[in-house]
Amino acid sequence: MGHVKLHIPGPVEISEKTYRAFCQPMIGHRGQGFKDLYARIQPQLQQLLYTRQLVYLSTSSAWGVMEGAIRNLVSRKVLNCMCGAFSDKWLDVSRRCGKDAEGLQVPWGSPIRAAEVDRKLATGQFDALTVIHNETSTGVMSPLAEIAALKQKYPDVMFIVDSVSSMTAVPLKFDELGIDVLLAGTQKALAMPPGLALFVCSPAALAKAATVKDRGYYFDFVEFQKNAAQNMTPSTPSISHIYALESKLQDIFAEGLEARYARHRRTNQLTRDWAARHGFTLFPDPGFESVTLTCVNNGARPGGRVVDAEKLVKLVKDQGFLINGGYGKIKGTTFRVSNMGDETEATMNQLFAAMDNAMKQL
Ligand SMILES: *Cc1c(COP(=O)(O)O)cnc(C)c1O
Repeated sequence: MGHVKLHIPGPVEISEKTYRAFCQPMIGHRGQGFKDLYARIQPQLQQLLYTRQLVYLSTSSAWGVMEGAIRNLVSRKVLNCMCGAFSDKWLDVSRRCGKDAEGLQVPWGSPIRAAEVDRKLATGQFDALTVIHNETSTGVMSPLAEIAALKQKYPDVMFIVDSVSSMTAVPLKFDELGIDVLLAGTQKALAMPPGLALFVCSPAALAKAATVKDRGYYFDFVEFQKNAAQNMTPSTPSISHIYALESKLQDIFAEGLEARYARHRRTNQLTRDWAARHGFTLFPDPGFESVTLTCVNNGARPGGRVVDAEKLVKLVKDQGFLINGGYGKIKGTTFRVSNMGDETEATMNQLFAAMDNAMKQL
């Protein structure tokens, strides 16, 4: 049986070029070869995130850095903004780290809005906040600039932002946003194998981390800073991933950032058009739909079409494409289609042909 092409919202499909880069021979992580590799990609990483700060490479999935941010930056109490499975989980992770934590929960499908965050921060209880820019379980993109603008009002609160499924698909201007941590894993919009996370910290975040106790070693942000200043990582990294990242950055800058963002908007619009053509509504509140993945209602929603998502996924899979049948408590009543990474109009249309076929059999 041939490979089933991934259109799930992570991991996504990886190009042959990326695989080949991944498979280069090993080098020592304390040698000049590695330092040269990291030094070569650092300016591109900074350009990618519109920052003058160093970009760190963590050999972990995104959760490693998400947990690390809690351990490094929370000393009083953290506000976890919750609007779906990943952001809801962050509250649980904060508590498992032994931190005082409170959730700001909005209904799944709705975004996090600045006014509600402002009301919570105004209590003066919090010294950190977590937000997920693109909530992958619900397909909702929260208005990051609006939330980040609150940083001016609350300069001592650490703004920790997960952009796992949006980084490289939309502009994320770290320095301009004025936030404290921005992080992502490589298996989503970056279209690399899972196992590496990228993150960047503000000088304020590094200063704060240095004062926080019990931040451990593996995800100690101060260690990342010290090592990155010498083009190294605290412990032995997945060097293969960093080779793949170098190759991916070449692709990204050859295409151009603006062209990459525009391509994601176009392939996403095609997905929304497909859903509309088949009589489906979308799960997110109008105006807050993600541009990297589409979360479609297939359950009994007013005015929406009803189909068996599990059957749809299977019929599409039989034709060589994997889409996702919903996540967490909206499993079965939604399905999700990813347009992240290297997808083009042509490759998306191949998927839609398979999905059209499947719909005829439902
Ligand atoms: C996938 C995802 C995560 C979890 O990433 P891991 O790499 O599995 O740790 C976290 N946040 C968002 C928004 C995601 O899409």
